[in-house]
Amino acid sequence: MAKKAPGKVRRVAKANKAAKTAKPATRAAAKSAVARSTAKRGKFVYQFGKTTDGNGSMKPLLGGKGANLAEMCRIGLPVPPGFTITTEVCTYYYDHKRSYPPALKAQMQAGIAAIEKQTKKKLGDLKNPLLVSVRSGARDSMPGMMDTILNLGLNDQTVEALAKKTGNPRFAWDCYRRFVQMYGDVVLGVQKRPDEDHEPFETVIETLKHERHHEGIEDTKLSVDDLKELVVRFKALVKERVGKSFPSSPWDQLMGAVGAVFGSWMNDRAIVYRRKYNIPSEWGTAVNVQAMVYGNTGDESGSGVAFTRNPANGTKEFYGEFLINAQGEDVVAGVRTPEPVAELKKQMPKAYGELERIRQRLEKHFKDVQDFEFTIEDGVVYMLQTRNGKRTAMAALKFSIDMFKEKLIDWKTAVMRNPADQLEQLLAPVFDASEAAKAKAIATGLPAGPGAATGRIYLNADRAVTAAEQAQKEADAKGHGSTPEGVLLVRVETSPEDLRGMIAAEGILTARGGVSSHAALVARQMGKVCVCGAAAVEVDYQARKVTVDGQVFNEGDWMSIDGTAGKVYAGRLKTAPSEIVAGLIDGDEAARKTEKFRNFQQLMKWCDQATRMSVRTNADTPEQTQNAIAFGAVGIGLCRTEHMFFEGDRIDAMREMILAETLEDRKAALAKLLPYQREDFAGIFRALKGHPATIRFLDPPLHEFLPNTQESQADLAKKLGVAPAAIHSRVEQLHEFNPMLGFRGCRLGIGYPEISAMQARAVFEAAAIVQKEGVKVKPEIMIPLVGFKKELDLQLEVVHQAAREVQAERKVKLDYLVGTMIEVPRGALTADEIAQSADFFSFGTNDLTQTGLGMSRDDSGSFLPTYTAHEIVKNNPFATIDQTGIGQLVEIAVAKGRATKANLKLGICGEHGGDPASIQFFEKVGLDYVSCSPYRVPVARLAAAQAALRT
Ligand code: PEP
Ligand code: MG
Repeated sequence: MAKKAPGKVRRVAKANKAAKTAKPATRAAAKSAVARSTAKRGKFVYQFGKTTDGNGSMKPLLGGKGANLAEMCRIGLPVPPGFTITTEVCTYYYDHKRSYPPALKAQMQAGIAAIEKQTKKKLGDLKNPLLVSVRSGARDSMPGMMDTILNLGLNDQTVEALAKKTGNPRFAWDCYRRFVQMYGDVVLGVQKRPDEDHEPFETVIETLKHERHHEGIEDTKLSVDDLKELVVRFKALVKERVGKSFPSSPWDQLMGAVGAVFGSWMNDRAIVYRRKYNIPSEWGTAVNVQAMVYGNTGDESGSGVAFTRNPANGTKEFYGEFLINAQGEDVVAGVRTPEPVAELKKQMPKAYGELERIRQRLEKHFKDVQDFEFTIEDGVVYMLQTRNGKRTAMAALKFSIDMFKEKLIDWKTAVMRNPADQLEQLLAPVFDASEAAKAKAIATGLPAGPGAATGRIYLNADRAVTAAEQAQKEADAKGHGSTPEGVLLVRVETSPEDLRGMIAAEGILTARGGVSSHAALVARQMGKVCVCGAAAVEVDYQARKVTVDGQVFNEGDWMSIDGTAGKVYAGRLKTAPSEIVAGLIDGDEAARKTEKFRNFQQLMKWCDQATRMSVRTNADTPEQTQNAIAFGAVGIGLCRTEHMFFEGDRIDAMREMILAETLEDRKAALAKLLPYQREDFAGIFRALKGHPATIRFLDPPLHEFLPNTQESQADLAKKLGVAPAAIHSRVEQLHEFNPMLGFRGCRLGIGYPEISAMQARAVFEAAAIVQKEGVKVKPEIMIPLVGFKKELDLQLEVVHQAAREVQAERKVKLDYLVGTMIEVPRGALTADEIAQSADFFSFGTNDLTQTGLGMSRDDSGSFLPTYTAHEIVKNNPFATIDQTGIGQLVEIAVAKGRATKANLKLGICGEHGGDPASIQFFEKVGLDYVSCSPYRVPVARLAAAQAALRT
């Protein structure tokens, strides 16, 4: 059956991995309640500074940045004064043809007046002008996705005043040219045209440098005269491109900038980002207007970004970087590689001491690792932002355990601090230690995203995406468990335009940029393997090649990166399982002693303490079962018996059975299959060591087992001693137009009861054998695709008959259950009737989604991307359950089923069983267990524990 093709399954798994926990609907409701109440009050501007209106809990209204600026003011940290325009103004802006609420302007004027009073500066003043920054700030941080404007308030007059006031004309003119450039780009839209290779403002700079200096000097070496000339040329460029003069009135500048920030909420990269992280577009962004402080006044100034602990590996150390004589944008842009924050201790010990104090204060107050931005202006430290730091799964785990030990948080908070959908990162392979020792690293950089990645290199995001898609196609074509070849995205530095390529790539390698560069930030969030700032890597975009120490790599060549150690290797390095997998599955003693392993075990122990639902696994072989049990599964929730029919020469017996024209022939073929099935089940029962096993009877349409090519038909004909034409005509006869809605599921067992009888016998004989070996066995036979009680009843007769026979023959008493899948809407709607016959229900949410939405699980790939783009569906409904639609069917079946049988056991075994957002829903509706693939078991355990803690 096409749906079982490994490629497809993997795609769902990938989608699962990508799908982030959906924001609970209650949050949206809370937001609109807030919006309604504030709209009534008509308060659109919240001040911070000497008087602070907001606080840290007001993120829906003030955005993350605005709420935390307010909170930092409240706890006495040095924050330049300012105000936040609320997210509901953004919503208003889009609902009212990009216009503002009438009351906004007066409130902004009051906000500016308050800043003026505190800074003793005035907007547009010719003696002491106030300059402000205008920044976006969504509820959840969206790094690098939105636009920022600095130095607003400068014009030909105020620049002179600033020069005079600071006695530093170079600084004043540098600010002015930066402002015209940024404003021109972001607000006025003077950007690179499709036929241009460079940003137009950068071209102007390059031309001037060339004319005046005849060499590639750094921007910091430009003279005041150069900067003045740049402003003139920039303004001319603006005039030429937009047909309007650059605005000189600070208020016009301010209103334009606010509009641009709101406008950037709908720009392409913000939309891509929101889609990836399930941020609803109706949340909107806030705008923060804040007095400027300057990191670029000279060598006693600087700007930096820091984390209170290491967000890549979790170490408790002051971690970050700064640039002397620079504004904040320079640090995150990744253009100049900044210095580690520890260097500041030597260069500005006083400022460093103050930052240390702030670091401690932040953690004590927020009780979580903070990622903050600071500026040092003439030796004085100012805080511009703080937020919970994005972290890798490895860091999240270590933070949570360490902070628990430090008594900053309790164990329940520690559980919640580990994002369930990131946990898989911890299970990702690392490089095989012996291979890595043999291979010489050709370059080193900053270890920005832990793990091992190996792939063909691509130097451009689009080509990386195409290559990844191609690799996926090839792997699908190869079938059976083949994983696609990886792609590495190699860039000098990344920018938000590269996001799609970063998503598609296995790993990211950059030549420039520090730990807070865009590449590092995004990699950390996505859990991508990343090495950044590997200076020895020379990237030539034109020639599509990378040179490292004389060694040339063309696009498509293999490279490997170790994001835990920050190392780059030539070629394709072999990977080894992570310490957690090695410790649990292979019983590797050394791995079990590692901190990562021990922390993981502690987390899982807490999960068991918190959870209500249990976690089972979808497994069809003893090996898969063993792995899942090692990961903490407490049974099999779905054993798809059809998978067993493909192995070795069993497929021949299976085909013989399907092609049989008479009952006798069919029974003879089934008799050949029986020992195979019995053996499989016995192996699984042994691996389960007493845990229950839900075994589902044959489900896919029979033609999926048939030979479809001429050669395979001829081959089979030979084996069976019949004419190829006979095979061909039987295959034709079995053809169905809609096989997924055709002769499959329990319809097979009802049409050919002897198939179910054979399967039941195999289960019970295996159970009898293993039980006699002293192992407890709990088979739970599951009938698929039931929509009518009578269907189940007919199959029950067959199963009980087989049970009676085997128990009598083998003189054993077997403890077994017979239940059904609920995977068609009629089954859900008549669950009260079906429950009269069923010992348990297991929701087959793959088919329930397919049949409930009338959307083929195999063909939805062709239109789902359009559906997500239009936000018709927020997530892929085959990865994250459609709560409002399909969820209702589940709720109805739960209620009706339990109305008939109060203690009816309920589980779920569709792909959604391993998806954290769906698991939250299953907790809410009161299922007893979820079942998922073996490697998702830890994720599901964590998600189930978190769901229980939330409810
Ligand atoms: C389901 O439909 O959700 C299910 C688990 O069964 P299958 O995927 O094998 O159809
Ligand atoms: Mg199904």
